[in-house]
Amino acid sequence: MAPPQPLDLDVAVVGGGPGGLAAAKAILTARPDLRVAVFERATLRPRGAALLMQPNGISALEAMDPSLVDGLMAMDPHMGPYWLYRPDGSVVSLMEGKESPQEYIRQRGGRQCMVSWHELQSLLARSLPPGVLHQEVQFDRFQEAADGSSITMHFKGGRPPMTTRLLIGADGSQSGVRQQLFGDGPPIYAGAVSWRAVMPRPDWWPKEPGSYCIFGSPPTMLGTNPLHDGSIAWQAFAAWPEARIDEVGGRSVTYVQDPLAKKEQGEARRKRALEVFGDWCPQVRSLIEGVDPLALTEHAQLHRLPEDCKVWGRGPVTLLGDSAHLATPMLAQGTNQAMEDAVELGRAIAEHGATPEALRAYEAVRQPQAEVVQRKSVELFLAFKSAKPGTPVPQQHVELENLGVWKRVFAPLPRPGSTAA
Ligand SMILES: Cc1cc2nc3c(=O)[nH]c(=O)nc-3n(C[C@H](O)[C@H](O)[C@H](O)COP(=O)(O)OP(=O)(O)OC[C@H]3O[C@@H](n4cnc5c(N)ncnc54)[C@H](O)[C@@H]3O)c2cc1C
Repeated sequence: MAPPQPLDLDVAVVGGGPGGLAAAKAILTARPDLRVAVFERATLRPRGAALLMQPNGISALEAMDPSLVDGLMAMDPHMGPYWLYRPDGSVVSLMEGKESPQEYIRQRGGRQCMVSWHELQSLLARSLPPGVLHQEVQFDRFQEAADGSSITMHFKGGRPPMTTRLLIGADGSQSGVRQQLFGDGPPIYAGAVSWRAVMPRPDWWPKEPGSYCIFGSPPTMLGTNPLHDGSIAWQAFAAWPEARIDEVGGRSVTYVQDPLAKKEQGEARRKRALEVFGDWCPQVRSLIEGVDPLALTEHAQLHRLPEDCKVWGRGPVTLLGDSAHLATPMLAQGTNQAMEDAVELGRAIAEHGATPEALRAYEAVRQPQAEVVQRKSVELFLAFKSAKPGTPVPQQHVELENLGVWKRVFAPLPRPGSTAA
């Protein structure tokens, strides 16, 4: 009998979003000897979205490599007062000092940082050894060896197949790896749409540059926050009829979109946003009317039910991040949860090696934790979308504190040669 062919990789990660890159980082921190590769279909480039990194996600990053947190916090825009405005631009309230969410977090020993999705992705990508991240490589499907000892990965575009011991599907809300594992179809439409963009800070900005401004109330709101480089990010939400879901990309839209190829599409997105916000105050209109249409993203809000996300993997394959536990954005936890996934995956591989046992150990720790957040985010979104105008903005920080999510603090990943290993 011919001797078995050596495998190309120990761990292959599909998807170079925050989850996939962090997974590679965590695995290589704990086991630098493993051959790990990340396959990303796009190139790393700015996209119109910002993320709130919260205490649990920051702690997970620190466990992988404290210099990641230094890099992240160097981008901290030092958020200041929270201004709440009515749609006509009049002030409802101002939360500052002890009342502000960031002070609430600080008092509990936590940190947070608003960062653009692209800058977080770049920070993680830069932390990987050269040659780990492969851009513009689109995964197509996998094939498991009959004895479960390896996976053959097939790619689009005629790239030759590769073999790997483990496969991690970190390919986001429309995960192809998930579909091949479970075939459970596209995510559920949550009944609302969001528009997001990053753009220069407008003239009307409050005099404190770190101000966070929220206009309106559930279910029709626009929130805008500063970024460290003087730009701002905004995101707007509105209930949107299911009958019109195809106009906003349908159920197959990805949460994090590439800049648009066509200006007309951007203009159509702007028009739909103005359908909702066109008679709001000049500040809100200036954001929508002033944005470069190519920087404007639009997506139906999608999620999966916690009941449908009890199982994440099989044999040498598992899921991580949005592919495993897609939630609504109500708790701003998607990326933070993906960081937690990554660190636990790294720990499991440190303990069990690149084996299916490591994947089952990772899933056993993370699935119940992620489920709590997913369940709450769905519950909050249902209340959000059916709220009467004037309903107070959900206190995301209080909800997360009550769920105990911020209490999870991660010990440094064991490193070969360290006493913790
Ligand atoms: C309006 C809104 C606001 C949000 N705000 C926050 C927030 O403040 N804080 C927070 O923590 N989270 C937030 N989120 C959630 C966050 O964006 C996601 O949870 C996060 O991006 C998930 O990371 P991921 O790596 O799992 O997936 P993704 O970021 O979706 O990355 C998946 C990657 O896989 C790649 N890919 C897909 N298919 C293939 C393939 N076949 N081959 C190769 N590559 C492939 C994609 O190109 C992509 O780069 C928000 C989401 C929305 C919609």
